[in-house]
Amino acid sequence: MCGIIGVENNENASVLASAGLITLQHRGEESAGITISGKKKMKTFKAMGLVSRIFNEEILLNKLPGTAAIGHVRYTTSSKSSLTNAQPFQINCIHDNISVAHNGNITNFPKIKEMLLKKGAIFSHTSDTEILLHLIAMSKGNLADIVANSLRKLEGAFSLVILKDKTLIGARDENGFRPLVLGKIDNSYIIASESAAIEVIGGKYIRDIKPAEIIVIENGQIKKSFLYKTPKKQNTCIFEQVYFSRPDSVMFDQTVKEARVKMGECLACQMKNIKADVVVPVPDTGYFAALGFSRESNILFENGFVRNHYVGRSFIKPSQSLRDLTAKLKLRPIKEVVKDKEIVLIDDSIVRGTTSKRIINMLKETGSKKIHFALSCPPIISSCYYGIDTSSKDHLIAANHSVEEIRKYLDVDSLTFLSLNNLIKACSFGNKKDNVFCTACFTGKYPTRISKNTYKKSC
Ligand code: SF4
Repeated sequence: MCGIIGVENNENASVLASAGLITLQHRGEESAGITISGKKKMKTFKAMGLVSRIFNEEILLNKLPGTAAIGHVRYTTSSKSSLTNAQPFQINCIHDNISVAHNGNITNFPKIKEMLLKKGAIFSHTSDTEILLHLIAMSKGNLADIVANSLRKLEGAFSLVILKDKTLIGARDENGFRPLVLGKIDNSYIIASESAAIEVIGGKYIRDIKPAEIIVIENGQIKKSFLYKTPKKQNTCIFEQVYFSRPDSVMFDQTVKEARVKMGECLACQMKNIKADVVVPVPDTGYFAALGFSRESNILFENGFVRNHYVGRSFIKPSQSLRDLTAKLKLRPIKEVVKDKEIVLIDDSIVRGTTSKRIINMLKETGSKKIHFALSCPPIISSCYYGIDTSSKDHLIAANHSVEEIRKYLDVDSLTFLSLNNLIKACSFGNKKDNVFCTACFTGKYPTRISKNTYKKSC
């Protein structure tokens, strides 16, 4: 999972890009980078760590002057985590300086890389995004044609921002797997992974970039917008609304918060026979679903956990006891809320089951009487090939165990998953068409060809 942003025609381009990246920080915490151009020679600054630690006033105002910028935050666990793979990737080629930031996973990466290697290409990263740079460098024509010709060769998931001089390009794959939106602030256009990143910096969300659309922006004007190939049926990742995206971002004409509240309402309808004293969310993504559940069921909503936001992802976990300590540092039940209570506990999903088990154990140790565990999505039975690291099938608990087996393992009084129909219903406000979402991790039905050679990474 990654987050991207592009800003053009603005004297504060690097500051706005940096603020947008902070808003998108939840999409990747490992590295961040900004490319700036439009005034002096194109320049890219990137480092490992959080955006706010990398981009201070000195760097933004003195080292990154320019009127157009693209930025990237990166998260990965399966491909190499290093500064070499941090984005944006800036190259100097026959078309001068070009920089690219990518969210997604190019599934035919190995095939194209092999073809490029045979032609003499030299690779310096292990990221799939690098093949796009080679394809761009080898193409001929104007910038829009070069990008279109290159993207036609790619398969899989890619939302992109591309920068050359003062020209900002946004592009999305033909399925529209990852989100990408267009907005405006004064005389500047902004392209970002989520609408919240546009609104936080004072801009206005205009619309989504369409699947297979390339949009070319220069000097505060949309110079060109076209489809580089006939788009497929839209298959936007439904998991964005369950877990990844910010609650205040707009997707399919409603906020993600509204979708999550509806997921909770639907869960309450599925669990009509359950009686409980209190509905408790697992922070933070279970919050709005628990609110919806409470409203629909008239069971009291309470925050039953304190979440510590200062425990880094890299906190050392070499042994079981230290892993338990990390879990307790991150999340601690509030005794007054959960002791002697029958609880409906709401989380977004179960992947391996180990985190859920720890949270449930904590509630039991604190004295909860009964626990009904409810998830705001169906069981995850298949891996994602479109940019999300959802573990291999062997490690997905629901791929290998029945709901009853998982209930016994978690040792809860009941276990309920939101049905796929209800999930689609909750996410579909204002868009009644079928096949708008990819739901492959719940169904195993992938919208694109998947084989043993299909590339899979986690950004
Ligand atoms: S497989 Fe799952 S996580 Fe991946 S794009 Fe599809 S819905 Fe999203």
